[in-house]
Amino acid sequence: MAGNQTFTMIKPTAVRKNFTGAIIKMINEAGFEIRALKLVRLSRDQAASFYAVHEGKPFYDSLIEFMSLGPIVAMILEKENAVEAFRNFIGATNPENAAEGTIRKLYGTDLQQNAVHGSDSDENAVIESDFFFSKMERF
Ligand code: ATP
Ligand code: MG
Repeated sequence: MAGNQTFTMIKPTAVRKNFTGAIIKMINEAGFEIRALKLVRLSRDQAASFYAVHEGKPFYDSLIEFMSLGPIVAMILEKENAVEAFRNFIGATNPENAAEGTIRKLYGTDLQQNAVHGSDSDENAVIESDFFFSKMERF
């Protein structure tokens, strides 16, 4: 059965460009409820650990560098079938290919700086949420 929570980050470029408010507004209006939220900067080691699944890929080092450049906004979101619903909602990985009106189309810069992250499975949603949030930071 599909879970009802997913994890997302607003990536450093989108935070720096002050897109945080607009992105959160879209997320809420699409029916996702915020269960946890924080502004935090990842160290290189933390970014490497978060994206360990991509280790060895050509874009890995650059992704680690980028994700530790500045603060990100981390959130746990709740909605029915959250993981799939959120990935459909944010658009394709490459903003150029993302559907009109999606967060990645509107606020992404390029394939790497694509505005937001979305968990790719219920299992990873739990792992990623636990990476950022303690029990007392969740509602
Ligand atoms: P995310 O995991 O951030 O939600 P995704 O699941 O759509 O994105 P992944 O394949 O998991 O895509 O890639 C993780 C992230 O790595 C992408 O969001 C993007 O920032 C970056 N990335 C992926 N492929 C490339 C690439 N070929 N060149 C540069 N960066 C890339
Ligand atoms: Mg992914």
